[in-house]
This record gives sequence, structure tokens and C-alpha cells, in this order.
Amino acid sequence: MTKSSVISGFYKLPPKERLAIIKDFAGLTDEEVGFLENTGSLPMDVADHMVENVIGVIPEPLGIGVNFQINGKDYLIPMATEEPSVIAAASYAAKMVRDGGGFHTSSTAPVMIGQIQVVSVAHAGYARTQVLDSKDEILKKANEQDPVLNSFGGGAKDLDARVIETSLGEMLIVHLYVDCRDAMGANAVNTMAEAVSPMIERITGGHVYLRIISNLAVKRMAKAWCTVPKESLGGEAVVDGVVYASAFAAADPYRAATHNKGAMNGIIAVVLATGNDHRAIEAGGHAFAAFNGAYTTFSKWTKNKNGDLEGEIELPMAVGLIGGAVKTHPIARIAMKILGVKSANEFAEVLAAVGLAQNLAALRALSSEGIQRGHMSLHARNIAITAGAKGELVDLVAERMVKERKVRVDRAKEVLDELAKKQ
Ligand code: NAD
Repeated sequence: MTKSSVISGFYKLPPKERLAIIKDFAGLTDEEVGFLENTGSLPMDVADHMVENVIGVIPEPLGIGVNFQINGKDYLIPMATEEPSVIAAASYAAKMVRDGGGFHTSSTAPVMIGQIQVVSVAHAGYARTQVLDSKDEILKKANEQDPVLNSFGGGAKDLDARVIETSLGEMLIVHLYVDCRDAMGANAVNTMAEAVSPMIERITGGHVYLRIISNLAVKRMAKAWCTVPKESLGGEAVVDGVVYASAFAAADPYRAATHNKGAMNGIIAVVLATGNDHRAIEAGGHAFAAFNGAYTTFSKWTKNKNGDLEGEIELPMAVGLIGGAVKTHPIARIAMKILGVKSANEFAEVLAAVGLAQNLAALRALSSEGIQRGHMSLHARNIAITAGAKGELVDLVAERMVKERKVRVDRAKEVLDELAKKQ
């Protein structure tokens, strides 16, 4: 039986009942369910092995994005975020996209770039030629560092070298292209870059300083696209609004930064839930958005001849199924199981689809009723809690503030006092 990610009324259920549905969908064990139920379930000894100077953990809410259909397959999307409305918005957008046949995706091979900075060469152009002539020898040395990666079909596959002008004169920058298979690959690439550096110094007669991965992972791209029927979006006027919003962002970096941040709201929530390196995704996405000089968007929306909305997103996506904290963090392991992806490529493509959904939800709201209506009704609960509301009072105070269009802590305190007097 094929599993559906459309779960009617999921948001209305209590967490325990939602968890029972996810257990069934993802085949979670009782132990895994126990980890999720125990909101303090990153044990101190695990945390202490993950980073330095540990004194505790900071839990974030973990929710599920529903309705996603990507290349004909249904996914439930684990999302960790402190921001209200992100998960609801992604689920809503995924539903609209589903009406148009779901998301379609593609990706390149999972190739990361390792940079080796060579200075003090007599003639940078000549040094470049020397490095290119020694390609086989350098790649062989790089591949000796990671037989495990080689056994999965990955490893250093190619290299290039560029001469760049800097404030300190010409530098030769060698790029090592490493297929990282199902790893994000930073450790693997850095190890290779360090290992080949003495050889590059010998070949060029220069001095190597930096040997490190580039987060501008333009060889590891993920793409997603979709069509949203105008009826699902709320009519052709809303289609026009989204298309105008897209053109605005493409032309204006002030708007592009927020347009792209909206897509990152979804992408980073999944990257965080799965224990991946979210700084790498942010850095790569934004650097790619400025790749041609001016900062612009990594997604765009147009209207097709039927008047429906078409969207696409393309950005670097350096994520892994193994390595880093992916396997050490107990919740990250479970999130990965819920997501059910089988390769880093499939994972990268799902992330692109989530980014496109999140972008769509924001643009639809912005170009119709405005973002605050949906946002404030969810945010109101945070304000109510800040004012001291507990239990069922949280929703009562939040609802009142939204109705009055006064979502403020001072008003929350007044409502809370009023309700307390009644009890
Ligand atoms: P890693 O070294 O923990 O794991 C990767 C290794 O796993 C591979 O080298 C390979 O030997 C092995 N492996 C086993 N099965 C594999 C498979 N199916 N496919 C590929 N490899 C397989 O981790 P990593 O992915 O090399 O590095 C990720 C970590 O590096 C993250 O924690 C990240 O935060 C950190 N980091 C990031 C940067 C950056 O600039 N983005 C810089 C330094 C470190």
C-alpha cells in the first residue's frame, strides 16, 4: 500500500495522537517513540561528546510538514524550528502544489569543492599548468585518504586551478572536486586537501596556506519545480501577485534577502531536525544567490499560458545521511527515518521542494491578505506564554488578542488577569 502524507486534521490532534500516526507511517520502534516523547532526550553524555564545554541542551519543537508529494512519492517532513507558522505554511503550500501534480526535482552528483591556496609562486600562470599536468598524481594521493568513500563510488574525481588577483598579489587556487556520495563531506574533503598540499607545494615551488572545503557548492545543486493551479491559489489575481513579488525580489537585494530567508525557513528546519550543518546551507545558498555579482533570488515564479503559477528553485545543497551529527544525535536519526530518504541526492531534492513550498506560502500570503494574519494568530500563543499563561489559558488569551487585533504582552497580561478573576 502506498503511504499518503495527506493527514486530515493533523494539526488539530494532540501530540500523542500525531506521534502514533508518524510511528505507523515511518515504522518507528517503541524506543524511538519514547525518545520523541521525552522532550529532554539528548543525553548529557552524548551532548558532551558532540561539542565542547557542554552545560546542557536547548530543545526546539519538532513538527511534521504534511501533504508533500515529490516525484510521485509522499513524504512526511520533520521540521525543527522556533518560529511559529513555518510548519503550517509549508503544509498548506504542499497541499496547493499537490493539486498541480506535486513537486518535481533533480540534482547533480554530490560533488564538493576543496580549496588549496598557493602563494609565493614565481609565475602563477605557469604554476597552474604544472598543477594541471600533475592531476593524476594529486588525485591518487587524495583518494588514498578515504578508502571507505572510494568503496561507495565516491572520492576525488577531478581538479582545476585558478589564478586570482588579491590585495596581496596573485594567488593560485587549486580546486579539488570530491564526490562525497551520502556524506556532506567537509571532513572528507578537508582531509584530502591537507594531504595533497605538500605535493602541490613541491610541484609549484609555492607555499600553501588554506586547505578547506568551499561552501559555495555549485557542483552539488538541487532543483525543484511545480505548478500551482490558479483555483488552488485563490484565483488569477493571486497568481499575478506572486509573480510580481518574484520579479520585485529578483531585481532588489533588500527584498531578495527576505524572499530567500523565507525559503530557508523550511530548508533549515529540516536540516536542523536531521543534524546536518545548517550554516553550510545558509552560506552556500546566499553565496550562490550572489554568484553573478548582484545578490538575487534562488527561486522564481511565473504565470503559464493557462494562468496557473509555475515555480522553481535551484541552490547548492550540501547535506548528508551519515557523518557529522546525523548518526550521533538520537532525534536526528529518528527524523531521518521519518523522512525516509535513501540517498543524499534524494535528501537534497526533498530540501529544495520544502524550500519552494515555504517560499510559495510566504509569497501567497504577502500578495493577498498579508503575512501577519496567519503569523500573528500563531505568534499570539508565544505572547500569551510570555505573559505567564499556562495550559488552556494559552489558547484563550491568544484567541482574544487575535480577535481584538492587539497581540501584545501588555494586553495578554490584562486578559490573563481578567480570566483569573472569573475563575
Ligand atoms: P564524516 O567525516 O563524519 O563522515 C564522512 C565519511 O563517512 C566519509 O569520508 C566516508 O569515509 C564515510 N562513509 C561511510 N559511508 C559513506 C557513504 N555512503 N557515503 C559517503 N561517505 C561514507 O563527515 P563529513 O560528511 O565528511 O563532514 C561533515 C561534518 O563536517 C559536519 O559536522 C560539518 O559541520 C563539519 N564541517 C563543516 C565545514 C564547512 O565549512 N561546512 C568545515 C569543517 C567541518
